[in-house]
Amino acid sequence: LRIVESEVDDLSNLIAELVDTSKIESGKFEVKLERVNMQDVISKVIDSLQHSSDEMNITFENKLANKLLLVFADKRRMIQVVTNLIGNAIKFMPQGGVITIGASEGSKKVAFTIADSGIGISNDKLDKIFDKFYQADSSGTRKFGGCGLGLSISKSIIELHNGRIWVESEEGKGSRFSFEIEKFSNVADEKEQTPIKTCSECGCN
Ligand code: ADP
Repeated sequence: LRIVESEVDDLSNLIAELVDTSKIESGKFEVKLERVNMQDVISKVIDSLQHSSDEMNITFENKLANKLLLVFADKRRMIQVVTNLIGNAIKFMPQGGVITIGASEGSKKVAFTIADSGIGISNDKLDKIFDKFYQADSSGTRKFGGCGLGLSISKSIIELHNGRIWVESEEGKGSRFSFEIEKFSNVADEKEQTPIKTCSECGCN
C-alpha cells in the first residue's frame, strides 16, 4: 500500500506540474496576493515533508521558527515554491544531511534561503537548472525521480510576485537556493487587498 501511495503521489505531482506549466505558457497562471506569514508556510512544509526527511535522517535548522516575517504573496504558491526547494534539498542529499532555512530582511524586501549539504550542482549547469525539463544529471534522474519542472514553475511563481530566485552551489558540497519577494509592510498602505465580497454584493442570493 505504501508503494501504491507513493506512486499515486508522484503521478499527481507530475499532472499538477504539467497543468501549471501549460497555464504559465498560455499566460493563464494567476497569483492572488495577500498578507502571508512565511514562518507559518515554512513550518507547514517541514511538517508535510517530515516523513521523507525522517527516512533519510535529515535534520532541519529552521532559523525562522520564532521569527514573524510577513510578505505580500499568494500563500498556496509560496507553499508550492518552498515545498519544491525543501523537497529537492531532501532528494539530493545523502543520509544524515542538514537543511538550513534562513532569511535576510531588507527595508522593502526579504530573501529566504534554503541551504543543503547535498550533492551540489556543477558550475556549467547552474544557469540551466531553472529551464523547463532540465535535470543536471539524467542518470541521477532515475534515482531521484521528478521531471525537471519544479524549478521552472518556482521561477515563474516568484517572477509573478515581482521577485527573483537564484542558486549558489559547489559540486559535492551543497546548494543554496534563495528567493526574494516584497515585504507586506512595504505594500500595506499602497495597495488594496482583494476585498471579500459578501453574498448581497455579488447577488447570489
Ligand atoms: P526535478 O527535481 O523534478 O528534477 P527541478 O526543476 O525541481 O526538477 O530541479 C531541476 C534539477 O536541478 C534537478 O533535476 C537537479 O539536477 C537540480 N537540483 C535542484 N535542486 C537541487 C539541489 N538542492 N541539489 C542538487 N541539485 C539540485
